[in-house]
Amino acid sequence: MKPPTIMLVEDNDANRELMEDLLDVAGFGVAAFPSGEEGLAWLEGNTPSLILMDINLPGRDGLALTREIKARPETAGVPVVAVTAYAMKGDRDRILAAGCDGYLSKPIDVQQFPAQIGHFLSNADCGLRNAE
Ligand code: MN
Repeated sequence: MKPPTIMLVEDNDANRELMEDLLDVAGFGVAAFPSGEEGLAWLEGNTPSLILMDINLPGRDGLALTREIKARPETAGVPVVAVTAYAMKGDRDRILAAGCDGYLSKPIDVQQFPAQIGHFLSNADCGLRNAE
């Protein structure tokens, strides 16, 4: 059976490479992109099991990208997890309103990260919608 493929959009090279390595070592397939435009182009022909979305990106930010992903019928059902340094209440509401299904705080916890991804994959709502 093919392992779940995680799509990752993160403009910071060090963060992206770290997450890519951790996912790879944990046995996941990874499709990593430094920009939302490249990620959206890849989604034209591919459907990942989960999308990890940086919010602070040059050009369209992760919230705008998530809105587009959720508006496309082919990708509307793919869970999107925001990866963001903001974890304040208002930011969480903005992330939820954009259609994200969950979020991870930066910096990521290197030890916990693979298990967190596994948890998101096994929980369709990724926790955010039922967390209030
Ligand atoms: Mn960023």
